[in-house]
Amino acid sequence: MSVVVRFAPSPTGFLHIGGGRTALFNWLFARHHGGTFRLRIEDTDRARSTEAAIDAIFDGLKWLGLDWDDEVVFQFARMARHAEVARAMLANGQAYRCYCTPEELEAKRAEAKAAGKVWRYDGIWRDRDPKDAPAGVQPVIRFKAPREGSTTIDDLVQGEVTVANQELDDLVILRADGTPTYNFSVVVDDHDMGITHVIRGDDHLTNAFRQTQLYLAAGFALPEFAHIPLIHGPDGAKLSKRHGALGVDAYRDMGYLPEAMRNYLLRLGWSHGDDEVISTEQAIEWFGLDHVGRSPSRFDFDKLAHLNGVYIRQADNARLVEMVIPRLAALAGGHLPAATPDRLLALMAPLKERAKTLQDLAQAALFLAEHRPLQPDAGAAKLLQEAGADLVGAIHDALNPVTDWTAPATEAAIRALVEAKGLKLGKVAQPLRAALTGRTVSPPIFDVLAALGRDESLGRLQDAAK
Ligand code: GLU
Repeated sequence: MSVVVRFAPSPTGFLHIGGGRTALFNWLFARHHGGTFRLRIEDTDRARSTEAAIDAIFDGLKWLGLDWDDEVVFQFARMARHAEVARAMLANGQAYRCYCTPEELEAKRAEAKAAGKVWRYDGIWRDRDPKDAPAGVQPVIRFKAPREGSTTIDDLVQGEVTVANQELDDLVILRADGTPTYNFSVVVDDHDMGITHVIRGDDHLTNAFRQTQLYLAAGFALPEFAHIPLIHGPDGAKLSKRHGALGVDAYRDMGYLPEAMRNYLLRLGWSHGDDEVISTEQAIEWFGLDHVGRSPSRFDFDKLAHLNGVYIRQADNARLVEMVIPRLAALAGGHLPAATPDRLLALMAPLKERAKTLQDLAQAALFLAEHRPLQPDAGAAKLLQEAGADLVGAIHDALNPVTDWTAPATEAAIRALVEAKGLKLGKVAQPLRAALTGRTVSPPIFDVLAALGRDESLGRLQDAAK
């Protein structure tokens, strides 16, 4: 049997980090088994579903590199099919018409509440003759749920979980206006899509009981279930915005790489020994539901940043340049010098050594994208002032004859100057850094010289000597 899984988000908000992880686990499971990963948009809540949220789901999945197979299924568009199955169940006696009015149900609910009881629909229309139906009431269709015994799910993550059937009442499957209800639509869709494994957050575990009953009644083959524990904050509390419960797009904006995100999300709930850095290829090879943990995982920004740094150092320099340029443009707030991409590429090796995010990279590289004359920060201005125009001028003059403009050649010229003046290297290198970058910290200064090129470097020194 070939594996078919799905990611079934409701487009009522952004694609949050928990959704991203659910999608990743489904995708890995499909790719590991050479199966199919499908996407179903559960857009039946018309008031809360938005086009923007649907786009955010597509964008987020694409950015994460989680490509889906076949056409996207939109749940709302399948309403007629859901109603058809509901009517078939009605015809088979597995469902019945219920003529209770909303007011009646509300009164019973209030009564139960006042008595301190949990309200469940009492099944009053279950065996009642429809001839008794009050005039003018449009009935709902309810599922005739089993009343005796229990329902057990053999969950691939949670193990065996059982609920007594008397705890579950007769679920409405088709509303009075003919629209299907959520749990019912999910069952029909999963069946029609041939879903073999339902992998999702464990907030849906209770739905799985009702869904199991519906599968059995409808004569549909049951899928396997795997309910993944939710993600908590570092303090163990439910994940909130403060903890990182943000949209996937927020992580992209903060400058995380998709491969780092995949690795991080994978480790939120799944493990392979003590391995922390796991490539996507390895993840596909190793992934299985047997190593999904049973307790909630904790979101940890420091770990994510650390992993991101690892992936930034592994990333191709030209790709990093492409990703950093738009960030530089935003930071510099104007058009960038034409040489910026070349300068950035030349300096990428030392720059990426220290960066945890693309945004860090952009910040550290911003001096490359600035136009002359630079506006040195307070620390750099102080360094230049202490060094004095004469020394900065001398640095310029020492470098001016260098024609083979490489890090070693410029270093040789600076060392010769240092020796001639009887100074320590730092006394020259610091004002040189201040003149070239406008800052007191930067990548190794001779790499900076090489990246800026001869004309720009000498020009910046000239500016600083004034
Ligand atoms: N639409 C549900 C959600 O976004 C998922 C339902 C399911 O996976 O069965 O939480």
